[in-house]
Parts: sequence; C-alpha cells; structure tokens
Amino acid sequence: MDAVQEQQLRKLVTVFLEENAKVNLSAFRTQEGCWIGNVLDSTAAVELFESFRIPNFEFRILDIGTGGGFPLLPLAICLPEAHLTGMDSTQKKIDAVNRIKDSLGLKNVNLICGRVEVIGHAKQYRETFDVVTARAVAEINVLLEYASPFVKVGGKIILWKSMNAEKEVSGSKKAQDALRCPFKESHIYDLPGDFGKRQLLIFEKKSPLSGTYPRAVGVPKKNPLK
Ligand code: SAM
Repeated sequence: MDAVQEQQLRKLVTVFLEENAKVNLSAFRTQEGCWIGNVLDSTAAVELFESFRIPNFEFRILDIGTGGGFPLLPLAICLPEAHLTGMDSTQKKIDAVNRIKDSLGLKNVNLICGRVEVIGHAKQYRETFDVVTARAVAEINVLLEYASPFVKVGGKIILWKSMNAEKEVSGSKKAQDALRCPFKESHIYDLPGDFGKRQLLIFEKKSPLSGTYPRAVGVPKKNPLK
C-alpha cells in the first residue's frame, strides 16, 4: 500500500469504529485490533491480484457475506481501479457499510442486500465476477456453493482461513468437483503480534456451473456437498 492508501485505511478504521459502536459489526473494538485483525488481514490478498494477471481496471470483485465491509473496503482502497460489490443478507450491515463507503468517498464500491442462494441465480450477476472473496462466512464446501455461481470461468475464489483448514479442504473435494472449482493453492501470510500466521485458499473455476446451484436458501449450509 502507498502512503495515500495507508491514510485512507487509517481513516477507515476510525469511521468503522464509530459505526461499530452503533451497529454490532465486528468484535474488534480498538484502533490496533481493527487495524491488524480487519484491515491488514484484508489487504493480505492484494498481492495475489497482481499474480492473477487480469488488468486492475477490468477486475470485478464480489465479497460475499461482507458484514461490516471486510475484506471489501480495504480491497476497494488498495485496488482503486477495480469494481467491487459487497453482498450481505443483513440490511443494517449493508446500510452501515454504505455510510462508511460514502464518508470515505469510495466510488468503486456498490452494495447488495440479499441471500447469495437467491442472487446467485440472477442473470445479471451469474458468472460475471473475476474474483469472489469471503472471510468468516461458512465452511469451505458451503462457501464454494455460495461463490461458484458468481465466478466467471477462469476466475478465482479466495477464502480467508486459519492455518488449521486441512480437514476442511479435504472435506470439500465433492463440492470442488460438483461446483467446478478445484483447489489451486494456499497463500500464507503473517500478521503482527498474537495474530500470527493465516492463509488465503484459492480455488479456480474451470467450467460453467449447472443451474442446479446454488440450491435453495439454507440448503447449502444445512446439507453441504460432501
Ligand atoms: N466478512 C465479514 C468479516 O470478515 O468481518 C463478516 C463476517 S460475518 C461473521 C458473516 C456475514 O455473512 C454476516 O454478516 C451474515 O449476514 C452473512 N451471511 C451469512 N450467510 C449468508 C448468505 N447465505 N447470504 C448472504 N449473506 C450471508
């Protein structure tokens, strides 16, 4: 991140903490905790975007279950020419993120309120994103069903996970096959202090997805592919 981006990210922390005092968005309630646990954790993905070799200005990124706007808002600051969409089923969170986005003057973010299982069937969003991100939303086999309908063939899914995700990855083999999104690689990064090592898991969409997916609201979580 450059100096201007760092300044904007610091401002994000201040504005976010003000919103977090009114609407419960995140467990991080201090400047330091929010800076490391939300902002640096989100920006860990920025260098990956360069390796995807899609020109920055063409990127369409969707963050599902964006909650209070992470990783959505830090990515929007660090990738100013990309177009970012945040999606969440909770209206009050979407309203809060809209206010944060407006007070930061971010022009490259738009927000949608709804369930991914419903919006994943809408023609205007289906298989139209280069990258779909998700942090702290669900297990991998559920997340692949949430994310795959939105990703273009050749696009990527990036999931934020702890270092103990081995079982989750192996347990998602059936979902990877059915949803045409095999596991590609893991990107390990280090956060300061007690936060320690974490990883981004990257899946790549290999071919168009059957209209069967996503299944009806609640089904992916209640009856995950496995
Ligand atoms: N990604 C944010 C973060 O890391 O701080 C928020 C994580 S929060 C624990 C999970 C969010 O996912 C919640 O805001 C919830 O409303 C949203 N969510 C869960 N299932 C969803 C679904 N099926 N469709 C849309 N949003 C969903």
